[in-house]
Amino acid sequence: MGGRFLSIGECMVELSQADDGHLRKGFAGDTFNTAWYARACLPADWSIDYFTALGDDAMSDEMAAFMGSAGIGTANIRRLRGKTPGLYMINLKDGERSFSYWRDSSAARQLAADGDALRAAIEASDVLYFSGITLAILPREDAYTLLAELRRAKAIGKVVAFDPNLRPRLWSSLDAMHTLIADGARASTLVMPSFDDEAAHFGDDSISSTIRRYHQYGANMVVVKNGPEGATIGSDAEETLVPAVKVGKVIDTTSAGDSFNGGFLAHYLQHGDPIAAAAFAAEIAAKVIQEYGALVSPKKLKIA
Ligand code: ADP
Repeated sequence: MGGRFLSIGECMVELSQADDGHLRKGFAGDTFNTAWYARACLPADWSIDYFTALGDDAMSDEMAAFMGSAGIGTANIRRLRGKTPGLYMINLKDGERSFSYWRDSSAARQLAADGDALRAAIEASDVLYFSGITLAILPREDAYTLLAELRRAKAIGKVVAFDPNLRPRLWSSLDAMHTLIADGARASTLVMPSFDDEAAHFGDDSISSTIRRYHQYGANMVVVKNGPEGATIGSDAEETLVPAVKVGKVIDTTSAGDSFNGGFLAHYLQHGDPIAAAAFAAEIAAKVIQEYGALVSPKKLKIA
């Protein structure tokens, strides 16, 4: 029996340099990437929808059409007059990647401004997914609206999954980031942090401290990703390390964490076994980092 999966956040226009110096256009964003991999890994009796806000320009139309062609539902997407999607560019210099963002006034910042629409979309879903970036881009009041709806979903037994995806530059202060991330975890059943981010921005000295901290905030299960070291599942006072898949040559780690989350959720929602889900997710992430770009086509993932 399938279900209804709703991912909430911001998808942006991505510009990257092709070999001939031309710019290549794509669409990506952490919560959208996870929706993409959940779609690739879940059977057809699951619906995957994306909740965001877009503008009324041609680029917004193109992005929505792209989502639809990937099998991701767009019926809940708000369209705002005169607004545009956020944009980022991947700069490549001497093999090192850096990012420039134009997202301060993107339509997605208003995704939670209509509380009724948000509530209706969440009520119509069985599984909710959001990230620290979703919270960071919202006006504080709207972040609280979103968190209240997610707490309501959690209280009636829905799966609420959260990747803290710590990005200090998106927050007005570290204090604000720490407070809202804790609130995000409180509204969630499952938290999926990356250890290097947590160590850098929360000062965790071990994976166990990350797990303990998120449990204290109120998460039921914590899955800590740790690059080539694998992922550790923390639930009911037990910690289980699930190793990563060995990869000969890493091509591009963009979306490693997002694809891991999508693969983990897809498996976990069908089978309910977090250890098997983490092993499956590690296989997905290993394939993703051997290809360029955030969104690897389902064909290349070769899901058995
Ligand atoms: P993020 O992209 O959020 O920083 P990680 O770097 O922890 O996340 O990677 C997420 C997952 O991707 C890991 O749990 C692992 O399964 C996989 N992964 C990342 N880097 C490697 C690597 N070098 N070799 C194999 N697997 C990797």
